[in-house]
Formats: sequence, structure tokens, C-alpha cells
Amino acid sequence: MKCDPTLYRAAPTSLAVKPRLIRHLFLPPLVIALMIGLGYLGFWVSEHYGIRSLSENGQRQLELHARAVESEISKYTYLPSLLELESSVSRLLDDPSPEHRQTVNEYLEGLNRRSRSRAIYVMDTTGRVMATSNWRDVDSYLGEDLSFRAYFQNAVRGQPGRFYGIGSTNGEPGYYLAHGLEERGKIIGVAVVKVRLEAMEERWQRARLEAFVSDENGIIILSSDPARRLKSVIPLSEETKEKLARSLQYYWFPLNELQPLAREKLAEGEEKLTFPANSELMSEEENISYLSQTRPLSDTPWNFTLLTPLQDLRREAINQGILVAVAFALVAFLLIAWNERRKVIATRLAAREALQEANNQLERRITERTTDLRASNERLKGQIRERRQAEETLRRAQDELVQAGKLAAIGQMSTSIAHELNQPLAALRTLSGNTVRFLERGQLDVASTNLKTINELIDRMGRITASLRSFARRGDDKGQASLGKAVDAALQVLGSRVENAHLQLHRDFADLQVQIDQTRLEQILVNLIGNALDAMQAQPLPELWLEGEISEGKYRLRVRDNGHGIDAETRKHLFEPFFTTKPGEQGLGLGLTLSASLAAATGGHLGVEHPASGGTTFVLSLPLVSPLHAEPI
Ligand code: ADP
Repeated sequence: MKCDPTLYRAAPTSLAVKPRLIRHLFLPPLVIALMIGLGYLGFWVSEHYGIRSLSENGQRQLELHARAVESEISKYTYLPSLLELESSVSRLLDDPSPEHRQTVNEYLEGLNRRSRSRAIYVMDTTGRVMATSNWRDVDSYLGEDLSFRAYFQNAVRGQPGRFYGIGSTNGEPGYYLAHGLEERGKIIGVAVVKVRLEAMEERWQRARLEAFVSDENGIIILSSDPARRLKSVIPLSEETKEKLARSLQYYWFPLNELQPLAREKLAEGEEKLTFPANSELMSEEENISYLSQTRPLSDTPWNFTLLTPLQDLRREAINQGILVAVAFALVAFLLIAWNERRKVIATRLAAREALQEANNQLERRITERTTDLRASNERLKGQIRERRQAEETLRRAQDELVQAGKLAAIGQMSTSIAHELNQPLAALRTLSGNTVRFLERGQLDVASTNLKTINELIDRMGRITASLRSFARRGDDKGQASLGKAVDAALQVLGSRVENAHLQLHRDFADLQVQIDQTRLEQILVNLIGNALDAMQAQPLPELWLEGEISEGKYRLRVRDNGHGIDAETRKHLFEPFFTTKPGEQGLGLGLTLSASLAAATGGHLGVEHPASGGTTFVLSLPLVSPLHAEPI
């Protein structure tokens, strides 16, 4: 079944191409942008939550290590106040004799050894060292004036002196704890314990812990990384720097600021710091980020800071980000593939629907057309019925007309008939009158001759009336005739004449059925063949051709002879009634007239041709009953 291609619902080209082009142009960059964006989001979320988790863990670590630092520091806080109880110390401060000094020196030396502090010494209220545990050492503090030290100044005022500084004598860092020694409510001197806290640094290093302790000035005094030691964690003004330099708290160290590459405050006491890489293990481009968590240490104005490296976390976050990006790319790819497949299926479905629709439409059209055709068929049948009825009516009318025409022809001929009959009648009157007179006179021979003439005249008149009767008779114009039989019958009627003439007959026609009454056709053929025989009387080799052919639904029979032909004058009157060229009783002049009328009555025609080679051809055209029955004979 063929389908109308216009029935397919094709999208307009301009509309269909544009979105596809836009999709192809913008989809890949969009997917890539989303991939990068989501990858970054994955990285950010992973890092964020990683930092949060690290922060929680770090808080615990911070607490733990800060406590450790606090206990390390606090373990010495009681030590200087102990000296208040020692009588030798107060004696020395009362009376700084060499014996007293030596006693205290030795006492302090022993105490220092037992407490594992760095040094213990006693100063008078002017800040001069009166006795010290390191009295044997070359760089002993003995006799030194340390009144400029802040811890002394605090302690001599009765406040606890806490101080981290670098020793002015040997440049060694230490934690100084000072206590004002009271006697009867009056401060008589200051006892100082110097503690080294480096052990903590070593402990941190062993534990691979990154941590530092910054003092009240923001200077890192203890650090797991020696490079950070004595760096300030907050910016120092020039004024502060000068003040600190004057106090020699940090000896002559430059106190540079610890400058991270980036600093991001996350929460109170929590920062994200990025330092430039300095370890050999790290590549030069890779910076180190830390989560910095700070907590103040109790009993001191110091802060403990724990640094948790974020390298692993960062690496993990990058991996997560890549994972998210790859997962998204995969999902996007699957979605695009699914969408493409969906579109292909949709297109196929649409095409199938369109095809179905086209088929339905086609079937509808076929049904409509069939209905139309059936209707027009019915209409045609109706028309055919009407036509047949009309034809029937027409034929009947034609019959009536022919009949009327014949009667009219007889009417027209009536003058000629009257003339034709009046002549013999007049002759009969004269002859009968004469015969009576001849019989009265006894002239029997003459009377007999007259009677013979009268007989002949009566015969002629009978023939005329017989011909007219057969013409005027309402014949069967609807009959059928066999051409072959009609020819045979005509030749039989003319049998003796044909034989006497030694006629050579040429039959070249088909034996078929023509629409004319069989007797009428025979009558026409007898007239035509009889005329031909008459015309060929003087011909030594008479020949007659009967030739047939089908032309325009009719059968044309040509009756050709090689007789004397017809002269120009005769041709004018050929079909007129009672026109004859034949002498005496031979011709009535009705043969051609009646034959033409009989042919015309059945829808045929009789015509004449005058061949240049001589002779005459009469052409009889008659309607065929059925052209299919044509058989050559
Ligand atoms: P008829 O035979 O009684 O004369 P037709 O009507 O048959 O009457 O013929 C009229 C005339 O036509 C004839 O007298 C004759 O002169 C002429 N005619 C008819 N047939 C032929 C023919 N085959 N050849 C020559 N003349 C013919």
C-alpha cells in the first residue's frame, strides 16, 4: 500500500536544526563546566567536612597536649615559694656574708639537681643575684644585676613573676618563675627558678606533633619546628619591638613575624594557615596547609597552638572532587545516551504513528472513493437504463418516422404511381374497347393479341403494386440477417440468369450478422446483383465482386460489376422512383429506391461509386449486430 508522503508530520527544517545545533554547540562546554563546578563543590564539601572532623579530633588533641604543657609548667610554680621557708635564705638576705652565701649556694645547687630545673637563684630587693645553684659554673649568675627583668620587677612588688626569656648571660632560653620572699609582711628578696621547656619540644617532635606555645607578646617560645621559634604570631609594632629589645627578653633575636601565605579564620581559636613548603620531602611548589587550633594555657598568659597538617585531607578532598566530577560525567553521559535513545524511540514511534495515520487516512479515502464510485456506478446504471429507455423510445419513434417516411414517399410517389398506372389503364381501356369491337367483327386473332397485351399490362401493374405493398408494409426493422445466407439466397433467386451470363463471381466478405430483416437484405441483394447482371449483358467476361469491410461499427458490402457503368445524366436520377433506363417491360425503376429506403430504415445506407476503371459499385452499409462475430468466409 502506497502512502502519501505529505501525511508524515515532519518538523520544519529551520525549527528542527536550530535547537540541535545549539545543543551540540553548548552541551559539551556546559557538561564540562558542570563537571568542573561539581568537582570543585565535591572538593569543597569534602574539605569542609574533613576540616570539621579534624577540628573535633584536634580539639581533643589540643586539650590533651595543652594540659601536658600546663602540668609541665605548673610543676615548678611552687618551687620559688619554697625558699621562703628556708632560713638560710632569709639569713643571707639579712646578712650577705660569704658563709651565708656559700650555704645557700650549696642548698640551691642540691635543690636544683633534685627538681631538674635549669637554675635556682636568690636576689636581693635591688635585683642583684645573692646566691645561685650554678655558683660553680663559669657563666654563673652570681653578683649579676637582673633588676631589669620583668619577673623580678613583678616579684619584688609581691606579684608572681612569670617570664620566658633568653638568658642575658649565656643566651640560653628558659622559663623564669619568680617569687617575692616575704618576712614579717615585707619582701626581703626574690627567689627565681629557671626551667628549660625544650623537653616538651623533643616530645612533640618524637610524637610527630606540630605545635607551638606563644607567650603574652605573641612570640613563639616553644615549637616543634625550630624554624618557627622566636617568631611572632601577631604583627609587632616598631615600638613593641624596641621595648622588647630593651628588655633583652629575647636576647638579640630579630623577632620576625611568622608569615603564613594564607590565613583563614574558621572559628574562635581556629584558623587555616598555609605556609610555603620548606621540607625537603615536599616539592617546592606544594605549600603546606594546617588547621591551627589555639587554646590559652591556664596560669600563664600563653597560648598553646596545635597545627594539624591538611595535606592528606586536601589530597583526599581532591580525590573526592575528581570522583564527583567523574561520577557526574558518567551520569551526564548516561543521561545524554538515555535521552538520545529516548528521542530515537520517540522518532520511531512518531514515524509509526504517522504511517498508521497515513494508512488510516488512505483507507478512509479508499472507502470514500469506493462509496463515490459505487454511487457514480449506480448513477451510471440509472443513466444506462434511462438511455436504453430513451433508445427504445427513439427506435419506436424512428420506426414511426420510417413508416411515416415510407408513407410520405408513397405519397410523393403517388403522382408517379398514378401516372405509371394510368398509362396501362388508358391502354387497357383502349385495348379492351378495341377487343370488343374486334370480337364483334369476328377478328379473333387481333382480339387474342389484344387480350395478351392486356394481360401483360395487368402483370406490370400487379408488379408495381406488389413492390409498393412490400415497401409500405410495416416490416421488422429490428431483425438480424446473415450476410452469407442472404448472398446465397439472392444468387439462388437469380440462378438461371447468373448461369446464362457465365458470371465470374468474387466473394470477399465476412459471414456475419447485420441488423436487417433477412428477407429485406435478400431483396436488396437481388435488386443490386440483378441490376449488375443487366449492366453486364454486353460484357463477354462478366465479373462480379462482392467485397466486405468493417467501418465505423457498420459492415460495408461493395457490389462491383464490370458492366457498362452509369452515364452522367442517369447518375442524377438513379434513386428516383420509376426511373429506369431499361427498355420496355424490363425495368420498373423502383429497385434502387426501395433498396435505399430499406437500408435507411434499419440505420444503414445505400450509395454508389463509379470506378475510373469502369463498371459500377453499389455500397451497402448496414449496422453490425456484433463486430465480434465477424468471420471471413
Ligand atoms: P430498374 O432496374 O427497374 O430499371 P432500378 O431502380 O433498379 O430500376 O434501376 C434504375 C436504373 O439505374 C436502371 O434502369 C439502370 O439504368 C441504372 N442502373 C442500376 N444498376 C445499374 C448497374 N449496375 N449498372 C448500370 N446501370 C445501372
